[in-house]
Amino acid sequence: MKLKTLYLTNNLCYVTGKKHTPKGIMVHSTGANNPRLNRYVGPDDGLLGPNPNNNHWNQPTPGGRKVCPHAFIGRLKDGSIATYQTLPWDMAGWHSGNGSLGSAQNANNTGYIGFEICEDGLTDPVYFSLVYREAVELSAYLCVLYDIRPAKPYLIDHSEGHQLGIASNHADVMHWFPRHGKSMDSFRADVSTEISKIPNRELLKAVTKISSKVPGGIDIVMWSGSNKEWKAKYVDTLLQKIANAWD
Ligand SMILES: [Zn+2]
Repeated sequence: MKLKTLYLTNNLCYVTGKKHTPKGIMVHSTGANNPRLNRYVGPDDGLLGPNPNNNHWNQPTPGGRKVCPHAFIGRLKDGSIATYQTLPWDMAGWHSGNGSLGSAQNANNTGYIGFEICEDGLTDPVYFSLVYREAVELSAYLCVLYDIRPAKPYLIDHSEGHQLGIASNHADVMHWFPRHGKSMDSFRADVSTEISKIPNRELLKAVTKISSKVPGGIDIVMWSGSNKEWKAKYVDTLLQKIANAWD
């Protein structure tokens, strides 16, 4: 996972700024064929690339809708895959809509972090495997940060949220994952495996906490190597940045 941050500070959701305690994760996909992050995340930070239509979601009500997830996964300008965090994890997002249980019980109001995977034409196995992997790592990371179990009903997609009565009637992501041999059950199993590979959960929490307070921070990159490699690469980089910021 390559995690960057660009909060959608002009979005009405961010401006409203309601706090929540993260208790679950809802996986979404965008429902439109546009794998580029700059369709949704902006302005251009040099990596995203410009949005010529200026229709990204850093505006009060994108397309006239009250929508704002916590993150997007998709392609950067150079074609590589990244995750952009667009809301603080502890701020309530606008991603679920309402289900049969009504507004007070919907996922937005009950502590679900919601992220969107940018869809392509849904048939490319290479793009799918890359964004699926990114989503697994993001979910594992969030499960560790907030002690969320990678199980139903804590880690679900939008369509399962609808079945549970806590989200509107959308098909994502189960209209897409099965085309590539995956389901939300296999996703949860993959997230569980990823969590078990995380060598030191407290260290990951500490790095996350400090990184957001250090000028320039570091990209939170996942730990698929050994504990020693991860520490050398990221913790030492962070330590250097703290030292440099310390006058
Ligand atoms: Zn959705």
